Amino acid sequence: MTIFFHARTYLSRSISTVSSRHLHICIVGSGPAGFYTAEKMLKAHQEAQVDIIDRLPTPFGLVRSGVAPDHPETKIVINQFTRVAQQERVAFFGNVAFGSDVSLAQLRNLYDVVVLAYGAESDRHLDIPGENLIGIHSAREFVWWYNGHPDYRNLNPDLKSSDTAIVLGQGNVGLDVARILLRSTSELASTDIASHALTALEESSIRKVYLVGRRGPVQAACTAKELREVLGMKDLYIQINGADLLKTREDEEEMMNNRIRRRVYELIQKAATSGPSQPSPGQRELHFVFFHKPDRFLQSEDGRGRVSAVRFEKTALRGVGSGKQVAVGTEEYEDLSCGIVLKSIGYRSVPVDGLPFDHHQGVVPNKRGRVLTDTSGCLVETGLYVCGWLKRGPTGIIATNLYCADETVGSISEDLEKGVIAASSSLLNPGRKGLLQLLDNKNVEVVPFSGWERIDSKEKMLGSLRNKPREKLVSWEELLEAAKE
Ligand code: NAP
Repeated sequence: MTIFFHARTYLSRSISTVSSRHLHICIVGSGPAGFYTAEKMLKAHQEAQVDIIDRLPTPFGLVRSGVAPDHPETKIVINQFTRVAQQERVAFFGNVAFGSDVSLAQLRNLYDVVVLAYGAESDRHLDIPGENLIGIHSAREFVWWYNGHPDYRNLNPDLKSSDTAIVLGQGNVGLDVARILLRSTSELASTDIASHALTALEESSIRKVYLVGRRGPVQAACTAKELREVLGMKDLYIQINGADLLKTREDEEEMMNNRIRRRVYELIQKAATSGPSQPSPGQRELHFVFFHKPDRFLQSEDGRGRVSAVRFEKTALRGVGSGKQVAVGTEEYEDLSCGIVLKSIGYRSVPVDGLPFDHHQGVVPNKRGRVLTDTSGCLVETGLYVCGWLKRGPTGIIATNLYCADETVGSISEDLEKGVIAASSSLLNPGRKGLLQLLDNKNVEVVPFSGWERIDSKEKMLGSLRNKPREKLVSWEELLEAAKE
């Protein structure tokens, strides 16, 4: 097979553009945190040459594989990231697996500055009995499936054997998942949803979704705009137990101190007290369940190892002070039957060899983006920085990464000013040239930005045939092939 984008091809083109004194920066991860960091580095440092590597052949991280297909406006930021990638001082190298194709130690040897912005590619666990039963998925897996991530195209969630799904967690990802399960497929058909997911949702039997939180409506982790969208969905019956709306003094205080919590509560309250008391025949249903924490998953009796229900322990809130209330079990239990469970309790970052990692918080220990040698916070790893979910945990919207990148780039700039790090000669830290040499030696099939642009054109062309903005290519083979065409 001809390896068109073998690193050697790119290497010969790039050598002539590398002057002898650059600030060589490598950013790992091409999601919002990576691209905002690149943009700010280019603005702040004229001598900066920025390389962005990504495990996937496609850039943009969660904007491509996390943002829901029915939220096209959120994806517009891709235009801004594209302008960054097209700058002369920037190169994107996709299909490069950090940790296996190139190690952290190798990158640190090659570059003056390494910024890790590869996000959170795993999930928090509940650690309760039955968590490995068939039919239980993390929301991340489900989201990657409907967004055509090549690692999850074969997830094949069972949407047929029952009419009920349970979503655990009431954050914005939980809302996304519930919305996609309940939205009419005629509306989804004109989005960039992966075609395998559209077909499965068209054939889905799911009519009822329980969206379950361990705390109350004041603490629901979603934001008002996203909640309003779900509550306003066409032909959807919403069920909320009025008794869950009672507020404690701490709840009142929490709402007073936090405008978002107040808006979310008010929306839930309004939805609970308006609308019909019963669903109309065949109507889809969304049940908000509060004060229930998952205790165990129950297995179907057919011996096939499938989940058939979730046992919840009812909770009460304990703890004094705004935002500090925690859910405590009351030893009263309730089972909710279902055919599928989507755990939407948060993403989790994964460390690579040689990277200091706080396993408790699931983040790289850092001070304003400077990686610390350990959690005690005394020593800094020179030239190594972090940004995005890997730095601060899996919270915040895309724009949060703007501030996060600003802080990390600020630390890099300070360290350059103080001489802690310096632009080096390409003999010392060969940067791009050295990386491409290393990848070439390993026969890595690098996908440059022009390769992504080919994928992009093909997806848009295929999408236009079906009245969609794009038809995503969902297998590694298709993506790598399209990158070469
Ligand atoms: P999240 O906002 O942190 O929500 C996690 C949910 O899981 C919370 O309800 C949390 O309850 C619950 N949870 C955590 N551990 C649990 C456990 N052991 N048992 C039961 N419940 C548990 O996380 P996310 O929904 O994954 O979202 C991640 C970030 O992406 C958020 O900042 C979100 O706003 C953002 N996002 C934004 C959009 C958008 O703007 N449209 C879309 C998607 C995601 P507790 O509060 O009790 O811990």
